[in-house]
Amino acid sequence: MAKRIQFNAHGGPEVLQWVDFELTDPAELEVQIENKAIGINYIDTYVRSGLYPVSDFPSGLGTEAAGVVKSVGSRVTRFKPGDRVVYCMATQGAYSEFHNVAEDRLMLLPNQISFEQAAASFLKGLTVQYLLRQTYQVKPDEIFLFHAAAGGVGLIACQWAKALGAHLIGTVGSAEKAQLAKKAGAWATINYREENTAQRVGDLTNGKKVAVVYDSVGKDTWDVSLDSLRRHGLLVSFGNASGPVTGIDLGILNKKGSLFVTRPSLFGYITNREELETASAELFSLIASGAIKINVPDQQKFALNEASKAHQTLESRVTQGSSLLIP
Ligand code: NDP
Repeated sequence: MAKRIQFNAHGGPEVLQWVDFELTDPAELEVQIENKAIGINYIDTYVRSGLYPVSDFPSGLGTEAAGVVKSVGSRVTRFKPGDRVVYCMATQGAYSEFHNVAEDRLMLLPNQISFEQAAASFLKGLTVQYLLRQTYQVKPDEIFLFHAAAGGVGLIACQWAKALGAHLIGTVGSAEKAQLAKKAGAWATINYREENTAQRVGDLTNGKKVAVVYDSVGKDTWDVSLDSLRRHGLLVSFGNASGPVTGIDLGILNKKGSLFVTRPSLFGYITNREELETASAELFSLIASGAIKINVPDQQKFALNEASKAHQTLESRVTQGSSLLIP
């Protein structure tokens, strides 16, 4: 027997329960990992709430963690017991002491990267990799807008943009978050509670506005994001922290300057082993070199059995950077 978080119905953080479960042996292409640090992602709240519904109850939760290989299935070739590994995009159930994960979702962890750093940055860092390097290739000196810049994905984006020599304008919900984003490498910040975002983007770009906006807030920022784009600009809408964007009148893209919109996900960019290895290598080298620093504040490291409290905290918008569950 082992312990994990599971839920029996969609709902608020209170549906998350701390339970015993029967740990099965890994299937032939799976690896059993003893999790040492587990990544909390905003997407986990969508799965819990039912915005992204699960097909069966009871369900585990979470797709990302770092830990040590305990045992491997009969056809696993890349990993052996004792290896330090990190994974994301696994089947739901990473909020657990142990998790059986498909071999092709795992990467060996370089020695310079700790379990906590890895679990706090793998899914989020791979996301930033595809956003800034693939969906739209941000160029040196280019100015662009990134919402929720002091969040988990956001703080990595600030650092990655700086490493690319690009100028990230980050939106944030408080003065403290503005400071943090600036320290991480944001070129400018906009506190949307006090300033008009689209107007400030115009001011910061001498009226030109930006060619790309990265928007994970969704419903609340749709208009502001379109208004921050120059003619033929691209809105990358990659999340729903304020609720999903629905019911779009496509004509708005014409009116605002023949704009483009895309709604990408990590699953659309990492579809095979080669794509995972290429993107991970880029991320790991930036972390190992110190260009991207991953520091999780102590108050955002929750005991695994406190997943419910961790979700409440994340959804109340008070967190900065990544949060972790520690078994
Ligand atoms: P964050 O740490 O960024 O937390 C969300 C942040 O969004 C909050 O801290 C808050 O920052 C901001 N926010 C703005 N409006 C709201 C609102 N109404 N309710 C809650 N938060 C709000 O989370 P993550 O780093 O885990 O994820 C960031 C986003 O990226 C999520 O939307 C997630 O779904 C998305 N994502 C998408 C992926 C993809 O491939 N499509 C992959 C990974 C993540 P502030 O107070 O500063 O406004």
